[in-house]
Amino acid sequence: MNREKISLIRQLIDSGYLKTPRIIKAFKEIPREEFIPSGYRSSAYADTPLPVGCGQTISAPHMVAIMTELLEPKKTDRVLELGTGSGYQAAILSKLVKKIITIELEPELAEFARQNLKKAGIKNAEVICADGSMGWEKESPYDKIIITCACPEIPKKLTEQIKEGGTIAAPVGGSWRQELIVAKKIKGRLERKSWGGCVFVPLRH
Ligand code: SAH
Repeated sequence: MNREKISLIRQLIDSGYLKTPRIIKAFKEIPREEFIPSGYRSSAYADTPLPVGCGQTISAPHMVAIMTELLEPKKTDRVLELGTGSGYQAAILSKLVKKIITIELEPELAEFARQNLKKAGIKNAEVICADGSMGWEKESPYDKIIITCACPEIPKKLTEQIKEGGTIAAPVGGSWRQELIVAKKIKGRLERKSWGGCVFVPLRH
């Protein structure tokens, strides 16, 4: 690992964002620079979002750390992600779960993510180009769902596609600021907890 990567991971651990040993291992294994367009690669290990094309961004590493920790990924989990972007969050999760299906609206980004995941040698992540607010019924129900674009509400279809006892992590709110919500499906209904403010690019149709 290069010095910048070691220092970023140390910073994420010291700030309390990264806690779980197997999640730390996944951060060490995945090359973030491979998920970033060449012009921005020198900033790959700065804790900041970066442009990935189509006006979209790869999330800041601390946000990927927070959401991954909140999802409590298990080796047996089948996970759905809404908002593939660069594919980096999917790549981190791929090391921690059985299978990840990730949906991207922009064909160009879906292809970018496919290439990035391939270069990283990841085989248990599948990129689908579609409107993710409909979820992906074919492979449902999921153990976990992660939404990485801002939505005014957790889309209804996704609440139908999560297992009983399953977890959804999502930035819920307006275009400029959202609350990071973790919702558990208990007796068919979502029980929500807020984990504070965050900023994601908006969900579009
Ligand atoms: N998880 C990404 C960052 C996501 S940025 C990463 O690790 O890089 C949010 C992404 O959601 C953008 O790529 C955007 O195009 C996508 N998006 C927005 N609305 C969407 C929708 N309805 N369905 C699927 N993807 C959507």
